Amino acid sequence: MDFALSDEQKMIMETARAFVEAELYPYEDEVERTGEVRPDLAEQIRSKSLEVGLYAANIPEEFGGGGLDNLTMAMLDRELGKANYGLHYTVARPSNILQACDPEQAERYFYPCVRGEKIDCIAMTEPGAGSDLKSMRTSAVQDGDDWILNGEKHFISHADLADFAIVFAASGVEESDRGPRKKITSFFVDKGTPGFEVRKGYNSVSHRGYHNCILTFNDCRLPASQVLGEPHTGFDVANEWLGATRLQVAGTCLGRADRALALALDWAVNRKQFNQQISKFQGVSFKFADMQMELKSAELLTYEAAWKCDQGAMTDMDAAMAKLKTTEMLAMVTDQAIQIYGGMGLMDELPLERLWRDARVERIWEGTSEIQRHIISRSLLRPLGG
Ligand SMILES: Cc1cc2nc3c(=O)[nH]c(=O)nc-3n(C[C@H](O)[C@H](O)[C@H](O)COP(=O)(O)OP(=O)(O)OC[C@H]3O[C@@H](n4cnc5c(N)ncnc54)[C@H](O)[C@@H]3O)c2cc1C
Repeated sequence: MDFALSDEQKMIMETARAFVEAELYPYEDEVERTGEVRPDLAEQIRSKSLEVGLYAANIPEEFGGGGLDNLTMAMLDRELGKANYGLHYTVARPSNILQACDPEQAERYFYPCVRGEKIDCIAMTEPGAGSDLKSMRTSAVQDGDDWILNGEKHFISHADLADFAIVFAASGVEESDRGPRKKITSFFVDKGTPGFEVRKGYNSVSHRGYHNCILTFNDCRLPASQVLGEPHTGFDVANEWLGATRLQVAGTCLGRADRALALALDWAVNRKQFNQQISKFQGVSFKFADMQMELKSAELLTYEAAWKCDQGAMTDMDAAMAKLKTTEMLAMVTDQAIQIYGGMGLMDELPLERLWRDARVERIWEGTSEIQRHIISRSLLRPLGG
């Protein structure tokens, strides 16, 4: 086992760190205050990230991307993840699922996303279908060569900024061992398509400046050329390409925990009570031992899962353990960091209360903690008939 970082990995992390400090941190307060990333600011960040090669770093070089492997992407996400997510997202990466495009779709969707000219979003969740995505009711019915979509999606991240959505819809029913099961098809739906509407979603406690939206489909007619992958194989396409998204969540959580821990350490050695540094109180210093140990174990699970992903050997359990551990670790680390700060930790003078608020969503999106536990326990029990 070799845990050493390569020179390339060190250089990418240094580039990302410098980028975050120079291009993202200065705007955090503004975004937290206004709840928006100004379009001109987003454009400025996007063009600078294209310039330094951070944009589309996840996409293979043959398609014009940065060609980073999953392990190095997790390290990059760790650096970018330290900043407000609205700003971080602007540095962005196109969704890996775009690699499932056929050549004609690649010209219309994939390459423009890699060049930073278009933005995608992924629409699966519905008001009645969250963890249980297969119960989705948005329907896709064939009419000659066309498909007609009806239904509603909610919680769809950055759909306000996106040029198109990759929408998952129920396109039929098939028999399975466990009875009838919905067949799902994924579609490209461009903004401006008649019958497709995007409106503002809910205000969330986490990730100010990064919005979620409600998407409605009202007899929205799409030609067959808008189907991504083969009809009725939407979840296969998603499973093939979206597994690494849990690693992205894990990577960003490591970065936020790094930042919260660094803030708390700095405070503990500088803050004095009872005529001594609070770090000298064991009640404070032992918290650091636990925070560090949790962070390190989350890092090891994440990097190992990412490394296995690069070998084509990552299991659902690997990704679930990395996602579950890092998100729960982040909740603990940000909470303890606030405890070490005392009252000042709750004030918006510091990024700490934001890191704590932002941590909350991580245990919900990309599969809740309960669903990750379900995946892990199922992987252990099913082979034994349990
Ligand atoms: C800010 C934000 C952005 C999002 N962005 C997107 C996006 O871009 N695209 C998209 O498609 N979706 C997006 N989502 C949706 C997200 O993936 C879902 O919120 C998540 O999958 C959980 O679904 P739910 O909120 O409907 O909760 P539910 O599924 O209703 O779960 C409610 C509770 O029941 C528990 N539960 C459910 N089933 C089980 C089970 N089998 N075993 C044990 N416990 C269970 C859950 O763990 C949870 O505690 C976003 C969500 C948020 C909050």
